[in-house]
Amino acid sequence: MPSPILTTLPLVSNLLKAKFVGRLKFANSAKVDVGKYKIELPPGLAAADAPQPSFVTRKELDQQLGKPRPSVKGVAKAKFSLAYANFNQQWRQIPTKNGPPQWQFMGGEVYFDSTVSVYILDEYKPNDKDKSSVNRFRIIIQHELEHVLDDADLVRTFMPQAVLKESMVQRYFVQNQPMDNSMFEYFIRGPKLQEYFEPTWMLERNKRADKRDSPEEYNRLMREMQKA
Ligand SMILES: [Zn+2]
Repeated sequence: MPSPILTTLPLVSNLLKAKFVGRLKFANSAKVDVGKYKIELPPGLAAADAPQPSFVTRKELDQQLGKPRPSVKGVAKAKFSLAYANFNQQWRQIPTKNGPPQWQFMGGEVYFDSTVSVYILDEYKPNDKDKSSVNRFRIIIQHELEHVLDDADLVRTFMPQAVLKESMVQRYFVQNQPMDNSMFEYFIRGPKLQEYFEPTWMLERNKRADKRDSPEEYNRLMREMQKA
C-alpha cells in the first residue's frame, strides 16, 4: 500500500533535471578526406567531425569574415542554437484556477547545437598532382580543424557547465520550478533563452579563436606555408 506521503508527491518524484548535451553539426555533410591528404587531426577531433571545406573566392571569404582581411586564407564559422529531445513531453502545462497556466520542465535532454562551416580560398584547393598545393591545403585545413575542435568542446563541455551558473537554469531546469505563462512564451517557446545563452558561447568562442590565431601561431603557419 502506498504511504500517504508518497501519494502526495507523484509530480515531484517524476521530475528529472535537464541533461545538457552538445552536438556538433555541419552546414554541409561531406567530410574532408583525412587519409588522402594525410591530415593530422587535432587530438580530440574525430574524422567524422572534420568537414569538407567550401572553396570560395576572396570576395566570398571577406563576406564570411565580415570585413576584408587580405592575409586570411580560411575561416571556420559556427552558429549556436538550442533544441529539445521532445519539447511537448519535456514541458508540462500546470493548470491554475484562474488565469493562464504555468509550465514545468519534466527533464530530459536539452541540446546545445553548433552548426559549423569551413571556408577556404579557392586558390588553396588541393591539386592532387602538385605536392606543394596539397601541402598548403593541409596546413590550412589543419588550422581550421583546430577551430572546429574548439566548437565541439564549446557545446559538449563548456556550455553544459557554464549555463549551470545561471539562476534561470537552476530555477527552471535543475529545480523544476514552475514558470509563468508569459515567461514560458517569451523564453522557452520563443527564441529568448537561446539568445540569453548565446553571448556566453560567443565570448568563449572568441577567446579560444584569438588563442588559435595569435601572432606567434600565424607567423609559424606562414613559415610552414613558405616551405610547403
Ligand atoms: Zn584561425
